[in-house]
Amino acid sequence: MAIQSMASSRAAGKGSEPDSVFAVVERIREARRLDPNVVILDGSIGAMRDESGALGILPVVDEEYRKMPADLLMDYASIAGSPAFLQAAIDYTFQGFQPEGTIAAAVATPGGTGAIRLMMANYLNPGEAVLLPDWMWAPYNTIAQECGVKTENYQLFDENLKFMTKSIKEKSKAILEKQDSMLIILNTPGHNPTGYSFSEADWADLIPFYKKLALDTGKKVLLGLDIAYIDYCGDPIESRRFLGMFTDLPENMQVLLAFSMSKSFFVYGMRSGAIISFHQDAGVMKDFSNIHSFSARGAWSNGNHGAQELLVKISADAELTKRADIERRALYAVLKDRADIFVAEAKEVGLNMMPYYGGFFIALPHSNPKAVCAKLMDKNIFLVAMGKGVRVAICAVPLKQVPGLASSIKEVMDEIG
Ligand code: PLP
Repeated sequence: MAIQSMASSRAAGKGSEPDSVFAVVERIREARRLDPNVVILDGSIGAMRDESGALGILPVVDEEYRKMPADLLMDYASIAGSPAFLQAAIDYTFQGFQPEGTIAAAVATPGGTGAIRLMMANYLNPGEAVLLPDWMWAPYNTIAQECGVKTENYQLFDENLKFMTKSIKEKSKAILEKQDSMLIILNTPGHNPTGYSFSEADWADLIPFYKKLALDTGKKVLLGLDIAYIDYCGDPIESRRFLGMFTDLPENMQVLLAFSMSKSFFVYGMRSGAIISFHQDAGVMKDFSNIHSFSARGAWSNGNHGAQELLVKISADAELTKRADIERRALYAVLKDRADIFVAEAKEVGLNMMPYYGGFFIALPHSNPKAVCAKLMDKNIFLVAMGKGVRVAICAVPLKQVPGLASSIKEVMDEIG
């Protein structure tokens, strides 16, 4: 008998299912290899593309990065990230909305992914469960598995596709009956894949609920906010306003933020971000820095020095900050134009879609998303099948390809039923 795997039983079977997004990217490569002239609609991956199909970037980032001396790019970064980087990441994240009376801290991570990993690794014991949304960015499950953490899902929308907090509350309460700590991942604004953003009213409902839950149970309540798309949901300052609502939290409640330079500075491959948090107690924040620095050392050691220096440089220079803001707004305007057309046409043709307010993706509920995506591939339309529907990476679809897309999808969905 040939040995199939030399891995431990804990690792058995890992990775045998291909990543759903990268599997589609592979199919696109194959289609292009078979016919270099084929016209493809690529709505697969969450990377912004410009109108020519090239990767959307901030030119100021490109210019400033190339000016950096070799030692800044290539030397080790410090494990937690330099104090200047951490302050820049905190300032960029809050932009004036750090809750009053709190001390903020950050630890550098490889992208938002690293921050989510630190949340699951350091706020739950192995075997405990993290609360994840039913519609979600699939790697949350992968990270949980890697951390030895179980998953439970809360339902984001009711049967009429209307956002609700009912399931979030029920699941949060239930989990604290079984565990001494709860960690819930909330991906807002511009949720991947639906584009839903919690409203101020949603937060005005949830924040008091969690405060009370922490006070009533005396257990640890952790809200993990994945804010990857915060810059692409209308006015970026307004999108941050809700952060200022987390005032007067009980001492056993903490908010954790995943900051991603991939999305905010379009440097996906440079792998940079931070886990950021705030608390009224300096000791809690010192512990926050210690635990995450320790875990960083044991996982990836340190972050991308060049990317960290880039943020420091841009943040310290008002002119560069202004250029980055203008260039980011220009890409957002393109994204919004595409989404506006899709949303209007979806309405026109009666295509059912999840409530979209911003971000890189639009989601279309369906009972057989795999069949829908397979059929669309025959028409050279490449989208991603998720558990409860089809995801359109509208960030990647040039404006000229958007008209008619909703109706093509509707036709296929109707055919499949
Ligand atoms: N969270 C969500 C919802 C995402 O969609 C992504 C990337 O697609 C990330 C986090 C992490 O991105 P990165 O690790 O590149 O910052």
